[in-house]
Amino acid sequence: MGRPNVGKSTLLNTFLGQKVSITSPKPQTTRFPVQAVYEDTRGQIIFVDTPGIFTKVKDQVAARINLRTEEMIEKGIDIIVYMVDHTRQRADEENRVLGMVRKLHIPKIMVVNKVDIQSPTHIVQYRFMEDEFDKVVEISALENKHIPILLDAIFERLPEGSAIVDTSTLIQPGLNLDSKTFISEIIREKAFLNLRREVPYAIAAVVDEIEERDNGTTYIKARLLTSADRYKGMIIGTNGAMIKEISMAARKELEVAANKKVYLELTVETDDHWIDYV
Ligand code: GDP
Ligand code: MG
Repeated sequence: MGRPNVGKSTLLNTFLGQKVSITSPKPQTTRFPVQAVYEDTRGQIIFVDTPGIFTKVKDQVAARINLRTEEMIEKGIDIIVYMVDHTRQRADEENRVLGMVRKLHIPKIMVVNKVDIQSPTHIVQYRFMEDEFDKVVEISALENKHIPILLDAIFERLPEGSAIVDTSTLIQPGLNLDSKTFISEIIREKAFLNLRREVPYAIAAVVDEIEERDNGTTYIKARLLTSADRYKGMIIGTNGAMIKEISMAARKELEVAANKKVYLELTVETDDHWIDYV
């Protein structure tokens, strides 16, 4: 868990350079989108993402997303890995995620990321949160620092059980791009991040087509659905600048995850039933 831009995806990509697979979820495996499976002789760590933890619970959809998240955490998660970015001020956003973490009675590890950066730092603002966690680990996800310490801390606290994901069926390392849900979550995340102030919640993403092309690229056709024409205009942006930005950010993340070139064709539509796709 952690607010946007703390370095969650970077950490998973760092694991990817180690012994890990990024995969799409089997629905029965977890109710969260599986982001990565780390496996070594000690066992498996299945990393799941917690989409939809946002500051402003303004409307019905946001409330629904947040409720879903809390429910799912309580049912299916063994450990919270809570990441903070000491280079940024704590803000409302942080307090909201922390509020959710406080309600959960499972082991919690606090990860202070970006320790490769010394200044600016707001580490003091985060220090007094440390009491609420079972363990604090300082890492640099980007520069691959102290990652084994984090892995040890996680394995020490995981319950024993049989393997959940059959890693022999995964494309390693890389992403099984069959999952439309996984791809649409990434597209929606990029839309949220780029549009934060203007069109916060009235967006859904639908993946219509995934095709492996002979030249080794994966072609993906997807749509962003929104509730009103004025939102559609904002999502497209001046001369299509905004949709280009969203599309490029999504494509980049998909390429890293899939370890191959991705061509993403992303369009925007107004659709009264958009909410059904959230
Ligand atoms: P997410 O939104 O939590 O998934 O964050 P990302 O993984 O997308 O990272 C957000 C930004 O922080 C990117 O520009 C990363 O390159 C950068 N970043 C992530 N980890 C580190 C780190 O350990 N050190 C530094 N200097 N930058 C980092
Ligand atoms: Mg991310």
